[in-house]
Amino acid sequence: MAQWHNKTCLRKCLSGVAEPLCARLFTKGRVNVEALVGSNTVLIIFDDDAAPMKILTQGPWSFDKYLIGLYKPKDDESADDATFLHASFWVQIHNLPFRRMTRENAQVIGNTLGTMEQVDVSANGECRGHYIRVRVRIDIDQPLCRGRFVNMGETEPLWISFQYERLAIFCYWCGTLNHDEKDCKLWTESGGTLSKDEQPYGAWLRAATGNLQQPQVVHSSAIPHSTPPRTP
Ligand SMILES: [Zn+2]
Repeated sequence: MAQWHNKTCLRKCLSGVAEPLCARLFTKGRVNVEALVGSNTVLIIFDDDAAPMKILTQGPWSFDKYLIGLYKPKDDESADDATFLHASFWVQIHNLPFRRMTRENAQVIGNTLGTMEQVDVSANGECRGHYIRVRVRIDIDQPLCRGRFVNMGETEPLWISFQYERLAIFCYWCGTLNHDEKDCKLWTESGGTLSKDEQPYGAWLRAATGNLQQPQVVHSSAIPHSTPPRTP
């Protein structure tokens, strides 16, 4: 069970008495919670030692459709040390030919998006669905990757596209997750000269939740080495 604590008990809470987790709400409005320890940041204390890790592995989480940044402090850290630079997502890799839908290729492609955490393929290395799923830890200050060309040994490089599951509100102008389109510098500094028709990003980057294939997760540590595709 989670409890809200104020700053005065923060050091005590972080001294090993209970398992802390810091959370930042990437929402435009202020959050009216007394236990705020920074800008829209709260400290959550869990009675269950395993709860913070469980929450981290089941993310991403959102509040009012905005991303919740999570940070698990180390034993010698305080809430001031919390950073909210990364979030983990299940990313769908679309447009791969069936014979290229392997965990080796998923691993290599996922590594181009961020830090690979898991691959969702069958134990024998095949993907049985319409796409491959990879869980990747992504830098939220960087634009979401919409797709890329990969060299699979075909005559021409192949364009593969990405869709992100449980994707929170993000900026359709610059593609980052830490603000929405109304707060984007590209928009505010344009003086209204930009048109929404010109937005390089859109809701199409969000995976349709009603059409998810059955998970068949294999952890990346279990992936054997093989010859990867080249990304030009
Ligand atoms: Zn932006």
